[in-house]
Amino acid sequence: MKIWLDGKLVDKEDAVLSVFDHGTLYGDGVFEGIRFYNGKIFRLEEHMSRMFDSARYISLTVPFSCEELTAALLETVAASGLPDGYIRFVFTRGAGSLGLSPSSCKKASVFIIVDKIALYPAELYTNGLELMTSSVRRPSPAALSPQVKSLNYINNIMAKTEAARRGFLEALMLNEQGNVAECTGDNLFIVKNGTVHTPPVTDGALDGITRRVVLEICHELGIPAVESTMNRYTVICADECFLTGTAAEVIPVCKLDDTLIGSGNPGSVTVRILARFHELTSGNDNP
Ligand code: PMP
Repeated sequence: MKIWLDGKLVDKEDAVLSVFDHGTLYGDGVFEGIRFYNGKIFRLEEHMSRMFDSARYISLTVPFSCEELTAALLETVAASGLPDGYIRFVFTRGAGSLGLSPSSCKKASVFIIVDKIALYPAELYTNGLELMTSSVRRPSPAALSPQVKSLNYINNIMAKTEAARRGFLEALMLNEQGNVAECTGDNLFIVKNGTVHTPPVTDGALDGITRRVVLEICHELGIPAVESTMNRYTVICADECFLTGTAAEVIPVCKLDDTLIGSGNPGSVTVRILARFHELTSGNDNP
């Protein structure tokens, strides 16, 4: 496996960063998770734009241009020899002294990993995933914008760990008001009376790129889709529920805590959206 690190492809064993990197010391950095299908990077411009926005939000100066990094992503994908896979694209603040201030970090580091990923077992895409409500809340947007994909995922990791201890693969995360924000690594959608709903990003959700794709699919298929504030009641009383994310893609949800959602099987709207998503990613309509 070849890793792109600070300007060149190196062997996995040589892809190392300093222990003084503030990415390691403080989680000071940002990242993207991107997929490629049939050798083509899915929604590349949107991922690149979100990555640069995240960097801007944390005042991280990127030592490469967008064009150079696009070429680097393509080079790393080509070097993997994989037709389909997952890219982890990371900016860290770089090595500095032990204080919090990034001013001691002279140059940010950039690395790109390309690998395979299977977030959930294949059968859950036909049977549905069970969610639990996490006791860990999403931080207020006033504390940390949910828009920034920072290397500080400890909030999500604690929710994920809590879920794993109880035998769940994913957890519903509420915001401080008790409204639905998202899941630990996925956006949430419900379907009620034929309308698709997803929480607005202001309720604590990442502006997920798969979320955007699903909203576009709804528009294309003539399925009404809106952003709505929702709580556990909304999810429990929904006809259908599904999650979206680059790694997860589109996955039906059949249960929240002890309650089946709808019939407990993936619903017809979810199945239509999932089918169109697969058409888009399978390469036919992938520009
Ligand atoms: N929410 C969180 C917290 C995430 O980490 C992710 C994965 N990046 C998502 C939602 C889904 O976003 P996307 O569709 O852009 O991968």
